[in-house]
Amino acid sequence: MVFMRKRSLKMKIEKSAKIGFCFGVRRALDILQKEARKRGGIETFGDIVHNEQVLQNLAKQGIRVAHTIPDIRGKVVVLGAHGVTPEVEEQIKARGIAVINTTCPFVHRAQIAARRLVEAGFFVIVYGDADHAEVKGILGWAKDKGIATTDEKVVASLKKLPRRVGILSQTTMIPSKFLRFVKDNLDTVYIKDSEIRIVDTICHDIRERQAAALKLAKNVDVMLVIGGRESANTSHLAVLCATAAKTYKIETADELKKSWFKGKNKIGITAGASTADETIEEIIKKLSGFK
Ligand code: SF4
Repeated sequence: MVFMRKRSLKMKIEKSAKIGFCFGVRRALDILQKEARKRGGIETFGDIVHNEQVLQNLAKQGIRVAHTIPDIRGKVVVLGAHGVTPEVEEQIKARGIAVINTTCPFVHRAQIAARRLVEAGFFVIVYGDADHAEVKGILGWAKDKGIATTDEKVVASLKKLPRRVGILSQTTMIPSKFLRFVKDNLDTVYIKDSEIRIVDTICHDIRERQAAALKLAKNVDVMLVIGGRESANTSHLAVLCATAAKTYKIETADELKKSWFKGKNKIGITAGASTADETIEEIIKKLSGFK
């Protein structure tokens, strides 16, 4: 929903048409909070989503984060929306701990795509951040027969390229950049008798969120992108918006600086897929007070 707010004589604030929790985050939080209520508290394995304000709110509801498998204290643990490797899930279960898996269905689609490619004899290249939990999980589903990178030179530097190569993406990447990565790598992976498969695993929520944010960015003076510092999709939104408007990425209202908006009339607001409505509204409220 888009709406305009006129808070002062000059400044207009407009929210992106696609904002608020995505389907996968909403689903994971619903499952987690329901279980926590039923059991009077529960643990998650790692952060269920990458947003500090959401995590603080969950902690108040008796939800504890276990950072490693030995750190799990109870008999039930919830796995987050980003997913894990099959090995991690097995290791947890081997300790007699029950697992509630909230992996987003769109992440699971990427995991399945990676597994199918490997089972068909393909080497998997994941376009994404190798240190991100989701990407580590996808590579685990690829039985570690693959690599993750955003740098096309990494693929070219591989000692021996397999004849069969499958390329897919972390779910939150920018589609045009994924396409660029694929094109840049075609010369490298196209060798004699090669077979190349490209699987579009970018989530449709992210596509819509990015498209709406970019459309808004083209019509404002300043864009604010709200989300967690660790949130990959928030960072990608900021990169995209910066191509069309002066863009600031923030996590909380405390980071707002009045000087950013001096002489600016139109301010656009977008937010990452795990940013709570309360955080967005708090920032809009503070921004509205700037004259
Ligand atoms: S951004 Fe997409 S893939 Fe990630 S949790 Fe949300 S719906 Fe799922």
